[in-house]
Amino acid sequence: MIDVVFEDFVNYKKPSMVIEFPYCTFKCNHECGKNICQNYQLKDSEVLELEPDDLISEYSKDPVTEAVVMQGLEPFDSMDDVIIFIDRFRGSFDDDIVIYTGYNENEIDVSSLKKYKNITVKYGRYIPGQTPHFDKELGVMLYSDNQYSKRIS
Ligand code: SF4
Repeated sequence: MIDVVFEDFVNYKKPSMVIEFPYCTFKCNHECGKNICQNYQLKDSEVLELEPDDLISEYSKDPVTEAVVMQGLEPFDSMDDVIIFIDRFRGSFDDDIVIYTGYNENEIDVSSLKKYKNITVKYGRYIPGQTPHFDKELGVMLYSDNQYSKRIS
């Protein structure tokens, strides 16, 4: 993890704790042929060894937050850490978990997450120059036509 925002109001329809992950292969840039990733500068950020239990403890003390969002760089390039956190979090909370990935649905196996309740994945590369659309499940705008959310559990 490279950062945590304990109260975020822009990435999901509910107030959320946002966890930012440190790695990505920058597939959106490679496919586009130029540097269009808006998170690219995060690649130089210090990687923090944050303990899931410490984050969950902070979450439990916050009366505002009702969900957890995992986002860029690419959470699924740190799949072990994603699973460890969710497993620990589900020990105390059934609150919504949202994972923002740049992978397409057919590129990533999320079967190991389906045993946990209330998980939604936002799929798809960022492709610039398209018309944003509102995603009802997330309650936010998505910026490329190919991007959508899907509840997986
Ligand atoms: S998946 Fe996310 S972090 Fe990776 S290149 Fe695409 S927009 Fe950037």
